[in-house]
Amino acid sequence: MTTAVDLQTIPHFIGGEHVRDGERFQDVFNPATGEVIRQLALADEETLENAISNAAEAQKAWRRAGLAKRSQVFFKLVGIIREEADELARIITEEHGKTIPDAHGEIARGLENVEFCAGLVHHLKGESAEQVATGVDVRQLRQPVGVVACITPFNFPAMVPLWMISTAIAAGNAVILKPSERDPSASVWIADAFKRAGLPDGILNVVHGDKDTVNRILEHPTIQAVSFVGSTPIAKHIYSTATSHGKRVQALGGAKNHMVVMPDADLDAAADAAISAGFGSAGQRCMAISVVVAVGDIADDLISRIKDRMADLKLGNGADADTDIGPLITAQAQERADRILAAAPSEGANIVVDGRESAAGMDGFFVGASLVDNVKPGMQVYDEEIFAPVLSVARVDSYNEAVELINANNYANGVAMFTRDGRTAREFEFDIEVGMVGVNVPIPVPIGAFSFGGWKDSLFGDTHMYGPESFNFYTRRKVTTSRWPLPSESQIELGFPVN
Ligand code: NAD
Repeated sequence: MTTAVDLQTIPHFIGGEHVRDGERFQDVFNPATGEVIRQLALADEETLENAISNAAEAQKAWRRAGLAKRSQVFFKLVGIIREEADELARIITEEHGKTIPDAHGEIARGLENVEFCAGLVHHLKGESAEQVATGVDVRQLRQPVGVVACITPFNFPAMVPLWMISTAIAAGNAVILKPSERDPSASVWIADAFKRAGLPDGILNVVHGDKDTVNRILEHPTIQAVSFVGSTPIAKHIYSTATSHGKRVQALGGAKNHMVVMPDADLDAAADAAISAGFGSAGQRCMAISVVVAVGDIADDLISRIKDRMADLKLGNGADADTDIGPLITAQAQERADRILAAAPSEGANIVVDGRESAAGMDGFFVGASLVDNVKPGMQVYDEEIFAPVLSVARVDSYNEAVELINANNYANGVAMFTRDGRTAREFEFDIEVGMVGVNVPIPVPIGAFSFGGWKDSLFGDTHMYGPESFNFYTRRKVTTSRWPLPSESQIELGFPVN
């Protein structure tokens, strides 16, 4: 089945309608071919104002909508997305480049959040205490914050929007979603699906734009809260600007995730995991493994097992069934990865497998799977988030050295340990200063009933995304203290009330 979305000039979605306003337009590419496939209208000030005023008006009624009615939207949305997942996956692959199975994986993980929100009555329950003083009761309510903005990155064009907008809408807010300008069509498709699921017009608005649009959002007095996922420098900017304008902010940043392999680990399982987590989605996942930390004397053996497996990986268009690794998102991303690889030998690292060679002569923005050994802090290949299929190996002598290396890194999104020893794994969980930890699990993204977030430069703000924490982020708590005295019990009390 196809949707009603016209994909030639990608529209904004405002007040339930497709709107193509904008004085500026930007090209959207298919990164597997390098060709421009669509135009994107970038919002000017008037278009953004239109979206925000639609949202503010619609939110007044949505916060009054019965919770059972809100829930039904989510149940219907789950059905629509499941039934039409092939269509959404095709759109994701065409603009992002990831393989079709990977696009389906992203949709499935995004759906977890929609499913979690279908139980919104449970998540919006407040607390109460009876008889806190004689005849006095207290109850705490959760109320929506109003109009919220969700600003998303290119690498999960369906999952990350669903992380944010599901809870924001379930909690009774209206949303301005500003998706990545690189692969924005999935957001329009999702907004259309929400409408078909019964969401009233104006509650979810998709506004396309670049940094000018984002900066207007951050300063707009009607926007009460900002959820952001993207790179660390932009996350810092979002956090400082939006908080200085009085908004609550959760801004998730970049990552450099390590996978520690202990000498007792099953090296075949560790090599499989390094391939999956290092090269899946061409390394463009915030939870991708980018550094394998080989402890003790296993490095040569582990590298040879990883290298053997790399020989079977097929680089190509994500739409082709036999492709394992798709392209990078832009020509600039490809050039940057190539440049970092080129610099690695002069910094003292050894390139074991060079992905520039496997990508040579291909149209599109390709870098093949790459393996770099003897990587250390101070080298560009270690210090920078490459966001490409480049896997580094750092050699350390001991568990303590591995922990010191990781804890010294400013990024702290995800980390994994491969071992057969429960005690070492438990020590690691205790010692490591990273927000999400995997034990023999290379990409430990929490399921929808938990919340997602890193530490240090991987998250600015104190609320993690989706799950229970996000219901805190998107609601304000109000506490009511009440009593119902008989007229004969009323008296003047000028002292501060005590129990
Ligand atoms: P990005 O920071 O370039 O863009 C993210 C969003 O910010 C986009 O909507 C973009 O339009 C906007 N933006 C870009 N430059 C801006 C500026 N100067 N001012 C205001 N807004 C601006 O990120 P990206 O390249 O789209 O995504 C990849 C990054 O996202 C990686 O660093 C990755 O690690 C990170 N990421 C993190 C998580 C996480 O959970 N921590 C998840 C996914 C992606």
